[in-house]
Amino acid sequence: MRDKRSTVDALEQYLLLRYRLVSPPGLWDGKCWRPIPLETRECCLKVPEPGEQQPWPAMRHCRSSEHVYHLHQLSCSLPEFKLLCREAIAKWWAYAAVSNEVAQQLRRLSRKVAMDTCLENAPAYAVESVLL
Ligand SMILES: [Zn+2]
Repeated sequence: MRDKRSTVDALEQYLLLRYRLVSPPGLWDGKCWRPIPLETRECCLKVPEPGEQQPWPAMRHCRSSEHVYHLHQLSCSLPEFKLLCREAIAKWWAYAAVSNEVAQQLRRLSRKVAMDTCLENAPAYAVESVLL
């Protein structure tokens, strides 16, 4: 039961990060963004060093399903969690884990990109490519 709750929490956090309703904790030093030490996990070690042309690789990584997976130390496998994330993206409006307030924010966001109606039956990859 506890583990189910962890997975649900992780999915909710992933949706919030993905749709930029929250930001991962980190610092901008004028040249690039880095996560605070508490946010850093093993998966972050493989993120390329930021450069002048690409100041945001760590921010992108910290919004990824892989990073959220490691933050929550889930007992399911990473591929299983990635699959759950794709399902959550495709069905977030009906997703039980998403609180009303979050669901409203996500709905507003989807209206903004005029996707409300065609999101409903679209496969996850299509939804992803449109919302990115
Ligand atoms: Zn990471």
